[in-house]
Amino acid sequence: MSTAPEVMIEARDLELSFGPTPALRGASLSVTRGEILAIMGPSGSGKSTLLHCLAGILTPQSGEVRLEGTRIDTLREAERSALRRERFGFVFQFGQLVPELTAEENVALPLLLGGRKRAAALAAARGWLDRLGLDGLGDHRSGELSGGQAQRVALARALVIEPDVLFADEPTGSLDSMTGEQVMDLMVDTAREHGTTVVLVTHEPRVAACADREVVVRDGRVTQLSVERLAS
Ligand code: ADP
Repeated sequence: MSTAPEVMIEARDLELSFGPTPALRGASLSVTRGEILAIMGPSGSGKSTLLHCLAGILTPQSGEVRLEGTRIDTLREAERSALRRERFGFVFQFGQLVPELTAEENVALPLLLGGRKRAAALAAARGWLDRLGLDGLGDHRSGELSGGQAQRVALARALVIEPDVLFADEPTGSLDSMTGEQVMDLMVDTAREHGTTVVLVTHEPRVAACADREVVVRDGRVTQLSVERLAS
């Protein structure tokens, strides 16, 4: 039996320009199941664009993206949107909670959109809020939460569907370093516990250090970090 790690997501030779601006210029990347991968690189190098292509939010102009071996870049928008709703979780820099909803309703939202009954969705949301140390805050709206609490609610919302892949774009970028560290620790611990694959974009080496592996994006291409560089 083969012991090679199973590839969860693979991108090959992605190219994507915004008008005259090239964002990806032959980016290739492979992430194995359960791996926590950090994508580093300077601002404007193409990290977010790559993440959005991997998650089926953007479609590359050439190249391919595969999820467990199946191409997803060629799916119709409705199919990609179903894939995102059912199998992917997202955490962005600014939690992007719906301000009119309570924390609990925000976390329940992906389940409600997926057709879960309200009582069951809210119960699952409460479970995730408890797990992420937010018990008692379920009825708070985002304006009544600290930055760290709001980001943990965003994390709960991403995890409530128990996604196969969690995509995080600068998830600690708006937090002070101590709060950011707590959010990262929670994210990594929970992902490991559930075997969730994580693709994390960050420009902070301290955040990337929590990952199993780091790659660097420069000028729209992916460079693997050498072992020596990781060790230095
Ligand atoms: P990073 O995440 O590394 O900061 P991005 O992927 O956001 O980089 O951007 C890569 C390049 O593509 C940059 O030159 C950026 O200005 C450009 N870009 C990204 N998104 C858009 C967009 N929606 N419209 C126009 N240009 C964009």
